[in-house]
Amino acid sequence: MRWKARLLSAATMASTAAVLWPLLWKYGDRDLRVLVGVVPALVAWIVSMFWPRCPFCGEHVIRDRVDWLAPSPDCPNCRQTYDGPYRAKEELDARDHEEAVRLLAKRGVPISRESRGRDGM
Ligand SMILES: [Zn+2]
Repeated sequence: MRWKARLLSAATMASTAAVLWPLLWKYGDRDLRVLVGVVPALVAWIVSMFWPRCPFCGEHVIRDRVDWLAPSPDCPNCRQTYDGPYRAKEELDARDHEEAVRLLAKRGVPISRESRGRDGM
C-alpha cells in the first residue's frame, strides 16, 4: 500500500507536469509557470481523497503531509499492516508491545523482565 501512495504522488506530479510543460514552452507566461507547480499538487491531493485506502477498514492511506513522503506501513485506524495478512487484535497488541520494548531498550530505558514479553527481548 505504501508503494501506491508513493506511486500516486510521483505519477500525478509527473503526468500533470508532462501535460503542462509543453503549454509552458508554447505560451511561457507566469500564470502557466504557477500552474506547473500548483496543479499537480492539487490533482494529487484530490486523488488521495479516494485512493489508496486501507484494505481492511477503508481508511485513507494518505492522511497528512508526512504520509506523502513516508507513508506508515500500518493503518492508524485499525493497526493492520497494509500489505500483510489480517491479524487478530492480540497479535497486534503483542507486535506493538514488542516494538515499544525495543524502542525503550534502544534508548537505554531499563525494562523489567515481565515487560519484555514472551520472547525475552
Ligand atoms: Zn485500516
